[in-house]
Amino acid sequence: MKNVVLLGPPGAGKGTIAARVAQKAGLLHLSTGDLLRDEVARGTELGKRVQGIMARGELVPDELVLALVRERADGRRGVLLDGFPRTLAQAEGLAQFLPLDAVVYLAVGKDEVVRRLGSRRVCSSCGAVYNLLTQPPKESGRCDRCGGALVQRPDDAPEVVARRYEVYERDSRPLVDHYRRLGLLRTVDAARDPEAVAADVLKVLGS
Ligand SMILES: [Zn+2]
Repeated sequence: MKNVVLLGPPGAGKGTIAARVAQKAGLLHLSTGDLLRDEVARGTELGKRVQGIMARGELVPDELVLALVRERADGRRGVLLDGFPRTLAQAEGLAQFLPLDAVVYLAVGKDEVVRRLGSRRVCSSCGAVYNLLTQPPKESGRCDRCGGALVQRPDDAPEVVARRYEVYERDSRPLVDHYRRLGLLRTVDAARDPEAVAADVLKVLGS
């Protein structure tokens, strides 16, 4: 069993790939975003702190996320981390209790990300999410569930997506370089359908 970190820009399909790989390889999938939301939903002590922090529009501090990951990983082998670490400081904190076997970078170009996320639509009434490329509604511009009008989130506008991609590239570079120096980095071409990408990740992990 291996401890693995999955990295990649927004639109690389990290969540989908992580879920698929974790299931096939028998790894525990830890998405820090989901873990934090879960703590908030369950109203735990940590959840209450997180809620306050987010309500103030602040970033959840590293120690808190690290404590959460540590508790959930619980010393076991075979953890797949998705969405964490994001910074060098977090990577160093993680290394204190979770030895990594591989870091997989899902590589996808800016144009492809703009195409993917730019095709996302949400229902203005019920919030259902569609993708004109991969999951289109039955009737153009209308929600299958409630008939509401489908709209594009401001976050998914092409220029905003391009900017988010550039910011990710810039901010994640020190982390990627760090893992490359440690000899842990594996790059997988993520500009294909999720099934093919997941198969490649499994191959790279040797499982
Ligand atoms: Zn709807």
